[in-house]
Amino acid sequence: MHEASIVEEMLEIADREVILQGAQRINRISLQIGVLSGVVPEALQFAFGSLSMGTLAEGAVLDIVRVPLTLRCDRCEGQWVGEHPGDLCPVCGAELPSIVAGQELKLLELDLELMETPHECDT
Ligand SMILES: [Zn+2]
Repeated sequence: MHEASIVEEMLEIADREVILQGAQRINRISLQIGVLSGVVPEALQFAFGSLSMGTLAEGAVLDIVRVPLTLRCDRCEGQWVGEHPGDLCPVCGAELPSIVAGQELKLLELDLELMETPHECDT
């Protein structure tokens, strides 16, 4: 399953970050997912729910930020949000636009809960 391996990789990165920062647990993980990445958000949430169990990310919120497909025409340099990478330019009708955005699959942000530092009493 495609989504499971993505989650596994993501949890590995998150784990490393937790150790690096000396954090206690992970509160939230934000992922940027382009519409062309082929990732199904629901499947990702499901895989995260089961794979995060027993890890520092258990109970964390998985925030999925969907990135729309943005295409750019090489001829007239127009840019638009499209449905399909094979769309024609709506301005000049040129074929084969360049893909500007929509293929993303990356970890955007990790919200970690840091270890509580003991307070010193000033009595
Ligand atoms: Zn054009």
